[in-house]
Amino acid sequence: ERELLAIKGLKTYFYTDEGVVPAVDGVDITIREGQTVGVVGESGSGKSVTSLTAMRLTPGKVMEGSIQFDGKDLLTLSEQQMQDIRGNEMAMIFQEPMTSLNPVFTVGQQIGEAVRIHLKYGKKQARARSIEMLKLVGIPRPEQIVDEYPHRLSGGMRQRVMIAMAMACNPKLLIADEPTTALDVTIQAQILDLMKELKSAHGTAILLITHDLGVVAEMCDRVVVMYGGKVVEESDVITLFTEPKHPYTQGLMKSMPTLDSEEKRLYSIKGSVPAPGSLREGCYFAPRCEFAMEVCRRQAPQLTEIGQGHFTRCWLHAPGEGEESP
Ligand code: SF4
Ligand code: MG
Repeated sequence: ERELLAIKGLKTYFYTDEGVVPAVDGVDITIREGQTVGVVGESGSGKSVTSLTAMRLTPGKVMEGSIQFDGKDLLTLSEQQMQDIRGNEMAMIFQEPMTSLNPVFTVGQQIGEAVRIHLKYGKKQARARSIEMLKLVGIPRPEQIVDEYPHRLSGGMRQRVMIAMAMACNPKLLIADEPTTALDVTIQAQILDLMKELKSAHGTAILLITHDLGVVAEMCDRVVVMYGGKVVEESDVITLFTEPKHPYTQGLMKSMPTLDSEEKRLYSIKGSVPAPGSLREGCYFAPRCEFAMEVCRRQAPQLTEIGQGHFTRCWLHAPGEGEESP
């Protein structure tokens, strides 16, 4: 399939009182038409900033790189051109629908807004489209719910409304940032099923941002693991789960809760994500890595292809490189 989104060499920095924070520090992510690509990492890894930058909604400053979307170079478009794309060809859903839904407008007004703006639908047509979308996302009694306000709905129903809004114009790409994190397990499974259904019915590509490897296993074709603003591992989903190579990815795997265990997080990676900007030499993961060698603290490892389409950024898997020079 054709490349739909190609993020190349992206750097997004924040300027704070404490200095420059390279939140996204040279990231490449490619999504093909109809593909679901997961971006995984702890909070502070740069995964949300990457997706916000792709929508041109980041509060940070884009320093370098390019973002090609469906033949357009997003970083060179005007804000007006970008508005024509957002909510139309690419749409986004977030973790907490209550903060993204407007409390003073009805569900129908909010779902209908995108088709009114982008497809020039009239009021009646937009309302009909809203009802159709509510049906599509599995909301019962859509003819009544269309006139309800968001606070009258449960968390799961609100997330369905968010998805209805995002899908109203049939986007080619859906960016979902922790779409099920705030929901309980049963509702989470229903929302993931819904996203899979919509994806296969409409061929929508999905960029899925999550800290949850269970969600990745369920949903994704490919996975990008981020740490400290960089990609540290990337592969197809099966390879990632069967042969994780980066010590950080291996740590994430070990900290996944298992189904037969009541105890979550039997293992957790020691230490915490370094404050962005605090560690700019060597491998950023070194302070938490049980395999750290001398070279790791001195020299930054490069992202290296270690198998077909399998990349990792670690001295353990960069044979011949990083050795002491005489
Ligand atoms: Fe660990 Fe070194 Fe690999 Fe970094 S480069 S993950 S410190 S072994
Ligand atoms: Mg986030």
